[in-house]
Amino acid sequence: MQVGLADTHCHLADDAFDKDREEVVERALAAGVSHIMAVGGGGPIESSEASADLAAAFPFMRSSAGIHPHDASSYCDDIEARIGGLLERVEVVAVGETGLDYYYDNSPREAQREAFARHLALAVKHDLPVIIHCRDAASDIREVVSAVCPGGLRGVVHCFTGNYEDARWYIDHGLTVSLTGIITFKKADELRATVKKLPLDTLMVETDAPYLAPMPYRGKRNEPAYVAEVAGTLAEVMGLEKERVYEATGANAAALFFDA
Ligand SMILES: [Zn+2]
Ligand SMILES: [Zn+2]
Repeated sequence: MQVGLADTHCHLADDAFDKDREEVVERALAAGVSHIMAVGGGGPIESSEASADLAAAFPFMRSSAGIHPHDASSYCDDIEARIGGLLERVEVVAVGETGLDYYYDNSPREAQREAFARHLALAVKHDLPVIIHCRDAASDIREVVSAVCPGGLRGVVHCFTGNYEDARWYIDHGLTVSLTGIITFKKADELRATVKKLPLDTLMVETDAPYLAPMPYRGKRNEPAYVAEVAGTLAEVMGLEKERVYEATGANAAALFFDA
């Protein structure tokens, strides 16, 4: 499947889009977005179900199923069975978002590690990629990944803000690194310097909408159309034409989410 500019991570089923979801999708297409990953895991399991229903309505959209690290303490056999059920649907092509968030610590860290490990095991069982959220938890992400998937895994570390060594480790273990509007922020020089050293064919772009609107929309509600700003900044950082960035990041998005 030919994938160009793709928003590889947005929470399109979020309440923030209840009033104008169709217009938001239309604006994305008008901005040149070819594909959208409407991730699950932005709240209780019902949000993954809503994302799957949304993705089923559009041929260029896919979704994922999982429980965000914020809600990891709710993870149990029943939730896992419901995630497993969603993973059987054709439009649900990935597990997540899952991972570890030690910045907010909304769930106890032990519960986050346990839920993350179980998501990884589900991904292995269903032979699907994983969408990983990491905030202030890179060393524990490595530890859990190494324990559950010693041979590496397919997936993405979304909203990457780490250092070069972190990125290298992810890439060496089979993961793609995805960038949000944070790379457009004035103070993100360090992140831009890190990204510049990474091979373009290991990267993807996303909005994480409705959060993290890129410049010049910072502070407003984010939406998939703005992924063009993220890709545009990535092109500047790499010193490449934006079409080249669309093509390379789109090929990664196709391989991970949209070729299935
Ligand atoms: Zn996240
Ligand atoms: Zn997210």
